[in-house]
Amino acid sequence: MTPNRVTWRKLPTTHPLRLTAVFVALAAAAIGASGGWSRLSAGRPSGDAPVRSASAQPVELEAACRQTADWLSRQLGSECHTIVRVPLVIAGDVGQAELDACYTETIAPAAGAMAAEYFDRAAPIEPITILLFAGRESYVHYAWKLFGEAADSSYGYYRPALRTIVVNLGRGRHGLMHELTHALMAFDWPAAPDWLNEGLASLHEDGRVRGDGVGIVGAVNWRLEALQEAIRDGRLRPLSALLDDRRFHGSRQRLNYAQARYFCLYLQDRGLLGRVYRRLRDGGWQAPACFSADPWAALDADFRGWVVQLPESRNQS
Ligand SMILES: [Zn+2]
Repeated sequence: MTPNRVTWRKLPTTHPLRLTAVFVALAAAAIGASGGWSRLSAGRPSGDAPVRSASAQPVELEAACRQTADWLSRQLGSECHTIVRVPLVIAGDVGQAELDACYTETIAPAAGAMAAEYFDRAAPIEPITILLFAGRESYVHYAWKLFGEAADSSYGYYRPALRTIVVNLGRGRHGLMHELTHALMAFDWPAAPDWLNEGLASLHEDGRVRGDGVGIVGAVNWRLEALQEAIRDGRLRPLSALLDDRRFHGSRQRLNYAQARYFCLYLQDRGLLGRVYRRLRDGGWQAPACFSADPWAALDADFRGWVVQLPESRNQS
């Protein structure tokens, strides 16, 4: 679930995912930041930035989606299906009914909830491709066939340069929720820090859309154990070090993911997650002053106390 740099050399120069860049430059100038997800947004009850107004689907974006879908259909072959739900192109070796179900049950509600809770600055203005495969065998097979590379996670992964998500549905929809977060956040805040990008994505991998459609409520999951152990053993670094670190992915990444995920859940438990995201993105957040006038040490102490009392069995998945 770590973003990877894609290699373009496998793709022909006429590949629609390359041509999309041209569409995007033109479409972006024409339509600005408003786009397809606004119709999914249930709106925010309060916040720091205006909720986007609904707008028509830009024809350029739909054309780019159709072109990508045509290319994918040819590459994937007759065993696979492809559907277009602008700005998404969804394909895979499951039936069209399952692709539709993944969209209506998981993707659309989650994307709408994220738009309502955090991603309210910029909606997608170019296609996002979501490849859904029924199990590990086809997941590995098609990742190699399309991109000439080995799948590097058993759940799924995201290729930022291609705006493509590849998911192994044999492990459930956790990977889909995680990678969808990266794909949407890339439009709203391309320069987001890794801790927040991975923290939110990891929060959503085991989460459910709130009843009002605003936000995704995280559950306790398998990442908790390593975090609680690190706290008990005195190995967890301060939050300030995590937030300042530009090397999120490295030897500490397993613990970094856990600390980032549960810091996001901690913020969510306090009703601050959406506000903190927008203030960080818009440059106005100074931690830990966001919570109170307390110093970092107090924030760390409160966060750690909250983590250690979390029951491992709460909503465990
Ligand atoms: Zn990730």
